[in-house]
Amino acid sequence: MALIVQKYGGTSVGSLDRIKAVAEKVAQACGSGQQLVVVVSAMAGETNRLFKLAEQLSEAPYPRETDVLVATGEQVSAALLAIRLHALGYPTVSFLAHQLKILTDARHGQARIKSVECPRILQALAEGNIVVVAGYQGINDNGDITTLGRGASDLTAVALAAVLKASVCEIYTDVDGVYTADPNICPKARRLDRVSYDEMLEMAGLGAKVLQLRSVELARRYRVPLVVRSSFYNGSEGTWVGEEDRTMEDVLVSGVTLDNNQSKITISGIEDRPGLAARIFGPIAGAGIVVDMIIQNASADGRADMTFTVARNDLRRALELIKTIADEIGAGGTRFEDQVAKVSIIGVGMRTHAGVAARMFQILAAEGINIEMIATSEIKISVVVNTKYGELAMRALHDAFLGQAGAEAV
Ligand code: ADP
Ligand code: ASP
Ligand code: MG
Repeated sequence: MALIVQKYGGTSVGSLDRIKAVAEKVAQACGSGQQLVVVVSAMAGETNRLFKLAEQLSEAPYPRETDVLVATGEQVSAALLAIRLHALGYPTVSFLAHQLKILTDARHGQARIKSVECPRILQALAEGNIVVVAGYQGINDNGDITTLGRGASDLTAVALAAVLKASVCEIYTDVDGVYTADPNICPKARRLDRVSYDEMLEMAGLGAKVLQLRSVELARRYRVPLVVRSSFYNGSEGTWVGEEDRTMEDVLVSGVTLDNNQSKITISGIEDRPGLAARIFGPIAGAGIVVDMIIQNASADGRADMTFTVARNDLRRALELIKTIADEIGAGGTRFEDQVAKVSIIGVGMRTHAGVAARMFQILAAEGINIEMIATSEIKISVVVNTKYGELAMRALHDAFLGQAGAEAV
């Protein structure tokens, strides 16, 4: 009998009526003879509400206890869905991470999964139950509750699908698939029928929160077929995320993303000699802060400016480190921009097409948008622009590369 993993996000379980609708969908899948493991997120807004409660009691809430608190959101929705499924006559068992063992490292708020044990799931399935699992949570070696990072119920679902060797992991959300751009920002965005793991990885890493980044990494590593579908609307095939195939290369740009949660830091007047970049970025990496784009401008007087971006959540910690390093290496000074926008175009077709970057820069120039930083990889080009131009840049690039006229021109 085929086993499938389904995951329902916050809006999909955002009210009792929605939980009833999810239960109907689960029941329907069960009726067609499949074994089902269902992962749920907290009801929409609940995780944010819990974080805010903690912040009202402490400026820097103690991470272990914050995880105890925020993991409760998923417990509630798992139990509510199981209660509803029972009421519909479907034997169901819900599990929290510690009951299964979803074992993680000890990094509260950002824990990584080390292993997943599933004898209890297999037994419950063999006894004819639907299994509901609370997403987003794990336990560490001490048996303490951890959480896996924002949006990480997707990761719970993919990890279970990998370990259980599910035939598919279905991600149900408030849009009917992965679009060429966030459909809530870009009205002309189109749903993609298929997208490769690599493209999805770039899109998720660059701001398309429809799938959580690490869930895509895991799906790619374990070759878990993923499909993103709407939990509200049945008439769409959704988007399949899987292996790249030949036809994908014919498409130059598959998606455009916007990430407004970046900050920019500059250290100026750095002596231009070997070892200083390592001196600057070593401690930053050591603190677990991911640096994304880096540019260095050397000036005629032998001094250089180094500018780089970090996620806005990490800005405060990065600045503290950078100020100390700047003093130690005798740099001229530091400055920062709290919020910048990173706009990216992504597509496996870029590997084999020249001139995409030039065209991207022309499109932005035509809108009068100044490019502050640029980074490229084989299948993506990202630029940093002033936040006020982020959405405009995204729409302009989308319409040029992915609108009707743009698509024909490629
Ligand atoms: P869930 O709560 O179900 O996990 P999320 O809010 O995490 O849902 O993800 C769905 C949202 O992702 C959509 O509402 C949409 O605004 C956003 N999104 C961003 N980029 C894209 C994209 N390229 N395609 C589809 N949705 C996107
Ligand atoms: N409830 C968690 C969050 O809001 C996890 C998730 O929704 O995937 O980040
Ligand atoms: Mg999500």
